[in-house]
Amino acid sequence: MVKPIMKDVLFLGQKSEPATKADLQVGKDLQDTLQANRAGCVGMAANMIGVKKRVIIVNMGFVDIVMFNPALLSKDTPYETEEGCLSLTGVRKTTRYENIEVEYHDMNWKKQRQKLSGWPAQICQHELDHLEGILI
Ligand SMILES: [Zn+2]
Repeated sequence: MVKPIMKDVLFLGQKSEPATKADLQVGKDLQDTLQANRAGCVGMAANMIGVKKRVIIVNMGFVDIVMFNPALLSKDTPYETEEGCLSLTGVRKTTRYENIEVEYHDMNWKKQRQKLSGWPAQICQHELDHLEGILI
């Protein structure tokens, strides 16, 4: 289901709680909501649709990957960049890492480990920050 975008910075500033199998619907809602906001959005965290759970979605070109309880295993090669966010106005400066490795549960609740570089890695780091209540 397409959900409205949360813009309350007090809510977005809170840390998200671990997701469980009961939150699979949240992953589907993220897929629908990202699809509906495709023009201005490449990824989302669950708190952006009002759910304080550790679920994110990352666009990887042809597919959107939903990650439950994503954990950053490694990161290297920092760089300075500017980002925007659907929940905020304008762009802000931030530091990201060129290469990362994440571990997460997928939509079938299978454990996955994935290496990301460049743009998908940047999106993923932005969404991981959302889970910690960090806004760019
Ligand atoms: Zn954002």
